[in-house]
Amino acid sequence: MARGSPAYQSIFSILRPAVGPSSSHTLGPLLCARDFRARIERALRRGAAASLRVELYGSLAATGKGHRTDLALIAGLSGERPEEDGSALAPESVARVQAAGGIAVKGTLVRFDPARDIRWIRKLPAWSAHPNTMRFVLTAGRAKHAAAYVSLGAGLFTPLGRKPAAPRPAQPIPYPYRTMHDLLAISEATGYPISLLVLADETAFAGQNASTVLERLDHLWRLMKATIERGLAAEGELPGGLGVMRRAKQIWEESRRRVSHPEAILAPALKADAYAFAVAEENAAGGAIVTAPTAGSAGVIPAVLKVWQEDLALPDRTVARGLLTAGAVGIVIKNLASLSGAEVGCQGEVGSAAAMAAAAAAELAGAIPAQVEAAAEVAIEHHLGMTCDPVAGLVQIPCIERNAMGAVKALNAAAVSLAGTGRHLISFDAAVRAMWRTGQDLRTAYRETARGGLAVEGV
Ligand code: SF4
Repeated sequence: MARGSPAYQSIFSILRPAVGPSSSHTLGPLLCARDFRARIERALRRGAAASLRVELYGSLAATGKGHRTDLALIAGLSGERPEEDGSALAPESVARVQAAGGIAVKGTLVRFDPARDIRWIRKLPAWSAHPNTMRFVLTAGRAKHAAAYVSLGAGLFTPLGRKPAAPRPAQPIPYPYRTMHDLLAISEATGYPISLLVLADETAFAGQNASTVLERLDHLWRLMKATIERGLAAEGELPGGLGVMRRAKQIWEESRRRVSHPEAILAPALKADAYAFAVAEENAAGGAIVTAPTAGSAGVIPAVLKVWQEDLALPDRTVARGLLTAGAVGIVIKNLASLSGAEVGCQGEVGSAAAMAAAAAAELAGAIPAQVEAAAEVAIEHHLGMTCDPVAGLVQIPCIERNAMGAVKALNAAAVSLAGTGRHLISFDAAVRAMWRTGQDLRTAYRETARGGLAVEGV
């Protein structure tokens, strides 16, 4: 990558405040709808009637109901920002829009009935091969305005047929990287840990000083911890009709009980389980989370970092710096493969989250860069082939437990790498390329369509 390349991807593009339950099926459509709202504002003519329909294709149609895609579309089209104010998507918004007869845009009512005007079309259109495709069609007077988008996972999206406006770095990026190999080479040349390289890059990208970037990281870490706290306090059944009960509180209490007993075996793992359950359950309930790197896998990194913080007595600012390392690993995976369950299965979501968490944990414990790479590699290697098969299209079974399993695996990967010298035979980049190939070989049924695996054999 050339110095100062505009293709630099910020870690804040994959670590961002969001609403659950899915970054590709909830947050992505919300952001696409908000983007199209700006287009509606430009297209509306005073006094002319306007109406809107939205077409959801492929995986969005197959599992969008469970992922609250319709609620996300309504929020985005209405200009709401639930991911920023920490509020959940409101199921009552469907009835509200129906009662109003549509959505108000700049004082004009755009006719829109979510029950009639959101079309759920499982077959992909001839003009897009991406499983998360959607199209908005506005009729304003006699003119038609259509825009298609694909939701790429991690809340990222791209318009089809239009060149997306990639944010340009405010200053030349000092340490541009695309792969883990790049990061290790720069680290060796400079003597800086990965987190410091990324901090310098993010500082240049945003045109801010380092302390402002660190405050953004502090904010994300505060949000993650707040989600854990809410999740540990909540009880009862999750929405969606599957009958899944929240378990974070019970697991947390069991982990506390075991610590004070001689048979304390597995107490640390249970603590990580409890934290991961807490976040994943909040996500499943459509609550406020931080994508890490996606909403479905949002529990892994907070769980690992919270356990690490408590066990190593790390200050908040230090833990927040771990997000720089985690983010860099996520960006490498995005560059070489994908972070989307619809593209590569759950190995790209929970597997990626585990790799990111393991790398962060290793560096926070003082690992050299080679050990950081080894931690990330071990974590992703042992998620290869993991399918995405959410029962009823809800991010609950297997997703909630899967976050907990990913967190424990990440902690173990960090521990194993810290016990070694950093020497390992399979590079992280090679493991990520293997993940991409494996994902391409997975039949569509195993890529977030709810048409394979547990989704058809489950409850
Ligand atoms: S199975 Fe994994 S990738 Fe699929 S929805 Fe659940 S967490 Fe996301």
